[in-house]
Amino acid sequence: MLKLAVISLITLFISACGIKNAADAGTSPYGNGVPSDPLASATMKGTPSTVLPGITYDVTVPNDQRALIEADFDTLNSLNITDSSDAEVLGINDFRTATLKRWLLDRTKYIVGESYNSKVLVRVAQSNYDYGSVGIADQVNEDDYDPNVRIVTLMSNLGAAKYLNGKDSSQLLSMGVNGGYISVTTPRIGLEQLAEGHFTANRVPGTELGSLTNRLLRLAVYFHEGRHTDGNSDNTAMPHKVCTSGTYYKKAACEGNSNGPYAVELALLKKFPNQCRGCTYSEISTINAKIADKQSRMINPRYSDPTPVRNL
Ligand SMILES: [Zn+2]
Repeated sequence: MLKLAVISLITLFISACGIKNAADAGTSPYGNGVPSDPLASATMKGTPSTVLPGITYDVTVPNDQRALIEADFDTLNSLNITDSSDAEVLGINDFRTATLKRWLLDRTKYIVGESYNSKVLVRVAQSNYDYGSVGIADQVNEDDYDPNVRIVTLMSNLGAAKYLNGKDSSQLLSMGVNGGYISVTTPRIGLEQLAEGHFTANRVPGTELGSLTNRLLRLAVYFHEGRHTDGNSDNTAMPHKVCTSGTYYKKAACEGNSNGPYAVELALLKKFPNQCRGCTYSEISTINAKIADKQSRMINPRYSDPTPVRNL
């Protein structure tokens, strides 16, 4: 209770200072900053996934978004991918449901909401922490377009970004989730943050968020983010490359690793047209457009050692 009270006080102070940025202006996720939802069950918030136990939702994930993510994960159960080409991109032998679940669960532990306030919930756990070699840039988000052709972020691997932040400053950071704190000793803490575009930009226009196609598109993003928990030394978190031409020119939205996050996402997306049973021509076209988009981001990709800095 004391911890909650302290967090609330800090948040109150920040709010009172007049920070207007949407990402930072929210009040405590443990306090009255969470929009009240009369239909929400109290037990829904801050508890593990029922579809993929091992993944915990932070209280900042709204219940409607959590329900959609659970449906996304559940879609894994209906996949029947017999073509194992590109399996090496993920470092697996096949795309069976059990294999894909294991891959995702090894790399995804926590999902936090867009309102998760890093300024409040990321703390220095230890100064002068020895990470070994020098850190690198923390480009670990997934960008796409919204309907107005504006580049927006879908998700980001916040745990990997904070690992790299901590490494750069020789500080061990810890991140608050549901009132407890997790030391960020490796990107494999698997903490991913939802962003504005995940349920808006990454969908077939005019279709239900829960449609099979939209679930498949979001599923590919979870695998993308999962890959950001891998890699080591100068390729820790397998960060993006800055695009040298095209739509994403000068943005860190390209891929230099043949087995990096965009490559993993691409490998999944290429399987999905055949899995999209009952999908319309428009829906299949959207998946194919996503495939072309990911392919356009590959810049002379080469295989990189995906061994993580450290397993949990
Ligand atoms: Zn990424």
